[in-house]
Amino acid sequence: MKHISIIAVLGCAILSLVSCKNDQKDIAATKTEKSEEEHLEEDHIGLTQSQAEDAGITYGTFSQKEVEVPIEANGSIELPPNNIASISSLLDGFVVKINFLEGDIVKMGQVLVELKDPAYIQLQQEYLSVYGRLKYLEQEQERQQILNDADVGAKKNLQQAKSEFSSKKSELAALKEQLNYLGISAKAIENGEIQNRVYLRAPFGGTVTSISAHNGVKVMSGQEIMQVINREHMHLELQLFQKDIPKIKKGQKVQFSIPAFEDSPVFDGEVSLVGKNLDVVSKTIRVHAHFKENEMLIPGLYTEAKIMQDNKKARVLPTSAIIMDKGTSYFFIKTFNNEGEIKFEKVAFEPGIKSADYIQIKNYDKIRDTTAIVLNGAFTLKAVMNKAVGGHHD
Ligand SMILES: [Zn+2]
Repeated sequence: MKHISIIAVLGCAILSLVSCKNDQKDIAATKTEKSEEEHLEEDHIGLTQSQAEDAGITYGTFSQKEVEVPIEANGSIELPPNNIASISSLLDGFVVKINFLEGDIVKMGQVLVELKDPAYIQLQQEYLSVYGRLKYLEQEQERQQILNDADVGAKKNLQQAKSEFSSKKSELAALKEQLNYLGISAKAIENGEIQNRVYLRAPFGGTVTSISAHNGVKVMSGQEIMQVINREHMHLELQLFQKDIPKIKKGQKVQFSIPAFEDSPVFDGEVSLVGKNLDVVSKTIRVHAHFKENEMLIPGLYTEAKIMQDNKKARVLPTSAIIMDKGTSYFFIKTFNNEGEIKFEKVAFEPGIKSADYIQIKNYDKIRDTTAIVLNGAFTLKAVMNKAVGGHHD
């Protein structure tokens, strides 16, 4: 007899649920007045014991976990000025050959660009001519010296020879310097070897990041043809708000992403230097962080970073317990368990620190530590709930 009565009660409960739904359907016309009540109703759902079992619902409570507490700091990827080189020529010239493509790796001293111009030949000829003249003047000076020593030459002639020699000598030195800049060997010219091309070489090993000329084009002196960067000392330069200064120290882990990238991966880095100067305008200090080389990361990219502090205890739930609905995070608690019927309530919360396994629950004070929380099966509850809510509009 007792058995039957329990079933009767259960049946009643289900019936009352169904009738509740029907009632709502009937009063759809006066919905606006009842919207408050209805909203509350939407946050609750009832299941039978066996439905709950079928849905694989399991319960647990909040747990305390050591979590990494991040400090937010934004900044950009930067490269020290000494690690960027603009490849350009000292003299105007025509591009004959560009030996690399954007993204190519170059070694220090490798020929990047070949240029030619009649002016290069003229310069070498001029050098050769001044060099020859200097040789003559040197001899002339020696001859005048001998004559002078023998008291047969005019002192004036010796002085003139000396002065001509010294002026040609500085002229040659200036030309030599120009050739040097162009990477042309003066020694080779002195041996009669004239080259018709100028080779622009890599000042250091690195990556070609841009090319702004092509074969046959005339480039002006100083005009950038190519840019090479040495990515080795690329780093993250972050701005940290003054309130966070005491929390930051060298060696702390940094996680950062690039908002400009669609679905930016998270990159790892480490604080290597904490600035000592407070920017009075922005009220920030600079934090310098290093990261593992990654091709995607190029200087100038804006970054959003999190600097990980020492661990802190926080109240968390496993990610399996969390559902998202219209941008809000929820979990379910068991509110009532009577005669085989279980009621659940959807509770919104402010998510804190997130990891792959757990989420920090920030405004948990409403809920006691002992409250039964749905740890598994939350997605099924959400689906059942949405179906029930959807049903109102049939
Ligand atoms: Zn650095």
